[in-house]
Amino acid sequence: MTKQAKFQTPSGMHDILPEDQPIYQKIYNTAAHVAEFYGFQRIDTPIIEDAELFSKGVGLTTDIVEKQMYTFKSKGGDYLALRPEFTAAISRSYIEHGMFNLSQPVKLYTSGPLFRYERPQFGRFRQFHQIDLESFGEKSPAIDTQIIQIFHNILKELKFKNLVIEVNSIGDSQCRPYYKKLLTNYLKARESSLCSDCRRRLRENPLRVLDCKEEKCQPVKAHAPQIIDHLCDECKVHFKQVLEFLDEAELPYRLNPYLVRGLDYYTKTVFEIFEDTEQGKALGALAGGGRFDALVKILSGKDVPATGAAAGVERIVQVLKERQKKSFDASQGKEPSQIKVFLAQLGELAKRKSLRLSEEFRKAKIPIAESLGKDSLKTQLRSADKIGAVYALILGQKEALEGTIIIRDMRSGKQDIVKIEKVIAEMQKRLEK
Ligand code: AMP
Repeated sequence: MTKQAKFQTPSGMHDILPEDQPIYQKIYNTAAHVAEFYGFQRIDTPIIEDAELFSKGVGLTTDIVEKQMYTFKSKGGDYLALRPEFTAAISRSYIEHGMFNLSQPVKLYTSGPLFRYERPQFGRFRQFHQIDLESFGEKSPAIDTQIIQIFHNILKELKFKNLVIEVNSIGDSQCRPYYKKLLTNYLKARESSLCSDCRRRLRENPLRVLDCKEEKCQPVKAHAPQIIDHLCDECKVHFKQVLEFLDEAELPYRLNPYLVRGLDYYTKTVFEIFEDTEQGKALGALAGGGRFDALVKILSGKDVPATGAAAGVERIVQVLKERQKKSFDASQGKEPSQIKVFLAQLGELAKRKSLRLSEEFRKAKIPIAESLGKDSLKTQLRSADKIGAVYALILGQKEALEGTIIIRDMRSGKQDIVKIEKVIAEMQKRLEK
């Protein structure tokens, strides 16, 4: 940000500048590729929804609804919210379009911006992006594992190493109420040892105490009853099978009895994926999700089991950028360029011919760079060098008249003259080498 800038992005929000676009695109493309391989189809829902969709679906006492939603009244008097998450919105769409009439499971994926009024900090923004996958109509634990595997694969394709999956089961409406009572009694007896947030959570959503990161709450958490020991038979069998599938798929996981995730709609399996490094821990989960068999019922009364997860794009970008910076430093500051050809021109006729020639390169799918606005050859060659071009094509007044062009090898400085109509084929040949 420059000192003169009067207006800035709102707190916790950021521009995605041109230099970062390739990283974002790579993440979206990788996710789409993997999701489609597993039969997920793209869906897009509006950025704004009825606020009640989230208060009902995600839960009134969750942080998202209680503290983080951007809500407003429209001119027509509707109470709306900028979407804070995808799952409720996609479930709304599934119900609204009668997708339960389609052959199940219905597997959907999406990506885009979400809004949460959180305290901005490392890895936490107020507008951020997610890649989200949801599968409706399938209760098999195999699907829970498949969702985990897909997110693990997306991260692996993006060359993440040291990934670890944390899993837990938070039971369902049969076993959770009893566990909740047990936990509440345990916590009530130790209320004075809890942080102020947890004292509130204790009344509203006691499971969330397990997920508290405050130092003060750790000793209480450490001896709290664990839900795994209180699952009903159905949830126990389901969880056991998820773990067996994870073993079968050779996915690196560990049990985390404190993993409850913030939202009300989860049932049975919950999981998060981290990079198992110091930085990874500081950054927080790269992806997280789980089964939400109760959500469609809460929203529509229909019993539709479902499972899904989301990955945070900014967090992935942060790791990839850090890695890119390291390899940039290792290459002593030379940026590896996608564009290997720079087209330089001198004079009016050459400039006109360059316009036509750039079009030929576009059709031949050879990316080129140029600076048509510059007239000095020296400046243009400096630009070619800066972007790391391997070849500069020089079209001067003489060449433009003779129908030729100079190919300059930027590394050796060697120059060849070829007929202009042959230059595409010649460059194809040279770039293939
Ligand atoms: P959630 O929707 O809370 O389950 O989060 C899923 C993933 O989205 C997390 O694992 C993070 O990678 C990412 N995420 C959640 N909240 C934020 C935020 N405020 N800023 C950046 N990324 C976030």
